[in-house]
Amino acid sequence: MSKPSKKTKSAQGRCFLCGGSFESGFKGMAAEGGIYGVEFCGSCGLGKTTPFLDEKELKRIYSSTYRENDSTRFFSPIEKIVKVIRVERCKRVERYAKKGKILDVGCGRGDFLALMKERGWTPTGLELDSRIEGHGRKVGMDLRCGSLDTIKFPDAHFDAVTFWHVFEHLRNPDAALKECARILKPGGLLVVAVPNAGSLQAKMTGKSWFHLDPPFHLYHYSLKNLLTLLGKYGFKSEGVKHFSFEYNPYGYLQSVFNSLGFRSNLFYDFLRSKSEAKKAYLSLAMMFALMPIALPASMLLSVFEAIAGYGGTIEIYAKKSS
Ligand SMILES: [Zn+2]
Repeated sequence: MSKPSKKTKSAQGRCFLCGGSFESGFKGMAAEGGIYGVEFCGSCGLGKTTPFLDEKELKRIYSSTYRENDSTRFFSPIEKIVKVIRVERCKRVERYAKKGKILDVGCGRGDFLALMKERGWTPTGLELDSRIEGHGRKVGMDLRCGSLDTIKFPDAHFDAVTFWHVFEHLRNPDAALKECARILKPGGLLVVAVPNAGSLQAKMTGKSWFHLDPPFHLYHYSLKNLLTLLGKYGFKSEGVKHFSFEYNPYGYLQSVFNSLGFRSNLFYDFLRSKSEAKKAYLSLAMMFALMPIALPASMLLSVFEAIAGYGGTIEIYAKKSS
């Protein structure tokens, strides 16, 4: 893919959140065979990835790098920790919503929904990969291939709708929230978990920030951006979580390694058992040598930013007005 042309840049248009215009931010970020950047709205600070790929290009990139359809995504001890973290995730949802019907948008292999089903919920999942439907039949869950634009659920149908690190991938967040407001029952719960572009780790590491993840992350939200957007569709925040053991310390660690000039996201690729990453012996040896300092520092900084209210990733629990 070529560098963004002038024509692509002007196509960024006005900010969908406040009507402001986008100004230059980060440039020259290599990913998935292309060069990307992030521009920021001069008025509200919302970030937008450039070039902003269309559905067809995104589909091509997703299908070549599909991440969630592999049962051994990480080394198995890490998978076990992830499962414990997901149970905590279920409990947090139950703190804000009574048991009923739940929709998980971008459900991956449906691991979160499987846990919710065990806990007495009626789960439905949406995923863009067509293989999900066969997997759903195998595990006895309603997992559908499609998006909120294509699958029309009945009005006031769900007790909870969740977006676990999916919302930042949406090309049309306005349409998605409008649909959520329609399909949720009055008083229903909306959970949006996203990287926080206003976080300390984002500000400290700039274009090296791990969670920018172009071209997959299309918009880059601060907490203020998201609260404004949710308010537009009648959602009121009841709680915001600023610490995520799953995402935040690792976000710091990888962003700092990226800032130090190691190949972008090399350690992440190593953890995902990517064969080419395992061959970068020298860089990996240097990273492991830095770990005794880098690991505790990342953990401490993540706790600090969370206490200060600038978590590297945030989870917003919002209710639809009844
Ligand atoms: Zn704006």
